[in-house]
Amino acid sequence: MKEQEKLTKLLFPLKNNMQKSSYIMNRIFTTTFSFCVFFGCKKASVEVISPEVIIEQKVDSLLAIMTLDEKIGQMSQVRHFDDIVDKDVAEKFIGSVIHTQGPNPGEDAAGWQARFKTLQEQALSTRLGIPLLFGVDAVHGQNTFQGATIFPHNIGMGATRNAVLVKEVAAITAIEAQATGFNWVFSPCLAIPYNEKWGRVYEGFSESTELTQELTKASVLGHQGNLSDSHTVMATAKHFVGDGATDFGAEGGNTTLSSREINKRLFPPYRVAIEEGIGAIMASFNTIKKQPMHAHKKLITDTLKKKMGFNGIVVTDWKGYSKYGYNRIINAGIDMVMAVDGDLEVFQEGLKRGIETDKVSIDRVNDAVKRILRQKYRLGLFENPFPDTTLVSKVGSIPHRNKARQAVRESLVLLKNENDVLPIDKTTKKIVVVGEHANSSGLQSGGWTMTWQGSNENYKGATTILEGIQKIAKGEIVYDTNATGNHFDADVAIVIVGETPYAEFFGDIGHESNTRTLTLTKDHQKYIKTYTDKEIKTIVVLISGRPLVVTEQINKSDAFVAAWLPGSEGDGIAEVLFGDYNFKGKLPHSWPKSVEDFKGKYGPNFWNKSITPLFEFGYGLKYYI
Ligand code: BGC
Repeated sequence: MKEQEKLTKLLFPLKNNMQKSSYIMNRIFTTTFSFCVFFGCKKASVEVISPEVIIEQKVDSLLAIMTLDEKIGQMSQVRHFDDIVDKDVAEKFIGSVIHTQGPNPGEDAAGWQARFKTLQEQALSTRLGIPLLFGVDAVHGQNTFQGATIFPHNIGMGATRNAVLVKEVAAITAIEAQATGFNWVFSPCLAIPYNEKWGRVYEGFSESTELTQELTKASVLGHQGNLSDSHTVMATAKHFVGDGATDFGAEGGNTTLSSREINKRLFPPYRVAIEEGIGAIMASFNTIKKQPMHAHKKLITDTLKKKMGFNGIVVTDWKGYSKYGYNRIINAGIDMVMAVDGDLEVFQEGLKRGIETDKVSIDRVNDAVKRILRQKYRLGLFENPFPDTTLVSKVGSIPHRNKARQAVRESLVLLKNENDVLPIDKTTKKIVVVGEHANSSGLQSGGWTMTWQGSNENYKGATTILEGIQKIAKGEIVYDTNATGNHFDADVAIVIVGETPYAEFFGDIGHESNTRTLTLTKDHQKYIKTYTDKEIKTIVVLISGRPLVVTEQINKSDAFVAAWLPGSEGDGIAEVLFGDYNFKGKLPHSWPKSVEDFKGKYGPNFWNKSITPLFEFGYGLKYYI
């Protein structure tokens, strides 16, 4: 009797709150279950029915009553603007909605939730009432929302080498994503970047497979928890595979790594992600030996799904359907299509025609839809399709920001510290702070912050590095943005220089959008020189999404700190510069010594002995052990 109660509870966790289709499904199971109990089916023992088995049965039963249009609809992912008008959600049986750069869904978190609730209601109004997945590029916090807690980009998290922290950061990101209406994030990026010329180096944790593996595990666990909780989200491992290992670091370029090398160096983090139950994997823009990854059946179906046992959703990247071969990508194993920017009709009609003309098998479509439904059941969306309103107050909350500040502190890597210039004495009479990066939360956060490519603008709730310095220092602080040289009476100069924000394509060096260099701009070189020439003690803080060639500037300065892209809590940097905390960060990448290091396909990497870096992978000084 007790066992029976347990099973009934498992089958009907939220009886009063049941959505239409889960109700239908559950009716089917009650009947089957009662039949088995009363008529003694073989193995009708309650222990053998695990929640996963129940989900599989629900998926099969739902799939069995779906029309082709409903199936193709489930495979479609669109933006909540431009791609659709609201009623299309129901009329085109849309499976998922994403938010990316474009009109915000609402004024505040409650407004975002309300907007997505309206769309969810559209989905629930359909014959089968299959709920929507809401996805967002929350790659360092819920970075599309003004007022969210923004963490260091993954390269900084790689420098922390702190898996516990990575897990906590992912869990907070999940809460803030749910609080703004999402149940799915396109993160973590498992790229293992081999060339600093790639504009997405900062999205990956490290050049090390082992470190990436360890932090992947933490990130997946942190984001997904037990998946069905109202404060966890489905995570996405991206971009499968070879995104960071293209020749010469070109975004969407070609990788010529051998299958053996791909297996040894790039697959392990995916294996870990799958072991930890990652819900989705995004296909990559790159080609492997000239074959587009989106259409790579051998890697997507044979390897990822069959050999590695991934049973979640393989989603395309942006406009993947029309970009990489239409139904070819479905046949290769793509389950959900990011049908944005004019691709929705092309995809829905194209796939329908493909099935009618036997170019795509219905079995393939069924497999794709099963994977999508499976994740929706695992997320508990049939029972709880709407965002949890109680989470709204957690966005940008003090505990979240404190955790982000800890992440900033632990991500800092001290590359040089001569004459004990660091830690700075808090009572220093006069400190001059130099550089526009010192007082801009936009600049310190990089791409994927408020907008796709990021910006120079300050955003809500963030603290700049200068504000952090002003909070801690007891003497006079002057801000000399462009190093005018009017403050040669200062005792210490803190010069904050680096890269302006960028994301995919626009961040590449030497490819399509060739506007960037591996070195600092002439202006930033001058900022440093202005003060070092006067023999003022100079501490340089580098804000960048990758190691840069700064050998000369390191030589000239007294202390040099790699601060990566710290995010909203700029004051965390001051806490370490003034000695409230020790340095902990270790280089997640080998640090180049010259632009000559980049003559070949890859820059310096610890496994390539032919290029000697300036600093080795793992380097990082401390104040004390
Ligand atoms: C990027 C992905 C991102 C997607 C959705 C693509 O261009 O490559 O990383 O998740 O856009 O915004």
